[in-house]
Amino acid sequence: MDESLDRARALLLGAQRVAVLTGAGISAESGIPTFRDAMTGLWSQFRPEDLATPEAFAANPKTVWDWYASRRERVAKVAPNAGHAALVALENRTPHFTLITQNVDGLHARAGSRNVIELHGNIMVDRCFAEGCVLTSADEIPGTPPRCARCGALVRPGVVWFGEALPPNTLDDALAATKRCDVFLSIGTSNVVEPAASLPFTALQAGAAVIEVNPERTPLSARATIVLAGAAGEVLPRLVG
Ligand code: NAD
Repeated sequence: MDESLDRARALLLGAQRVAVLTGAGISAESGIPTFRDAMTGLWSQFRPEDLATPEAFAANPKTVWDWYASRRERVAKVAPNAGHAALVALENRTPHFTLITQNVDGLHARAGSRNVIELHGNIMVDRCFAEGCVLTSADEIPGTPPRCARCGALVRPGVVWFGEALPPNTLDDALAATKRCDVFLSIGTSNVVEPAASLPFTALQAGAAVIEVNPERTPLSARATIVLAGAAGEVLPRLVG
């Protein structure tokens, strides 16, 4: 690990353009379980597809709302960790830096990251289920879920569900940063949810060095330039510090 870490540090120090992709793993050390790990206790009877699709919300709005309410509560209680902080330090010293995240917890912004692309939206944002518009004070409206004050449709969490399109421009911006970067970091993602899963391979094809940080092997591991096997909160401060 030490030799790989030194090589990865040198690559990042020499890079003008860095793109980073993060997944649920970077927030695990903050106390936010990965999607599947979260489905315990009360929620163990459901599959992600039962809770994270527009069809599930249309069929059982209260169940889906309650599930997201429990996740929101968790997100509100936790804080960014050393992994998030290391990426802020990396952004501060890198001329062109883009952070692409699949996470909906907003922890990168709370840590101080500035150029963040939230591919899957943000769990703290409320949207109208009919029109998609952002609603700023839905928490003041009674109901589980509440109803949009403008059109009366149900209020939904502002995340991207299975089968839904990504927020406008996010994928284009992520792809542009991926194709231009010298170094691409893939952190805490199982690399199976598309289209994010393809980004590291696009970076490799475009000639970038790809560094993976994950305690487990993923479909990217065999192709990555450097694999740093470990937890983001331990590896990233050593990589950037
Ligand atoms: P995933 O749950 O499929 O994979 C998590 C990955 O993180 C695994 O490969 C695991 O080995 C790794 N990991 C676990 N602990 C780690 C640590 N301490 N440091 C580094 N890596 C660690 O997550 P995914 O790839 O992000 O895809 C799941 C989907 O679920 C995404 O679409 C995402 O939007 C959503 N999700 C978001 C959050 C969040 O916002 N925090 C949480 C759960 C799921």
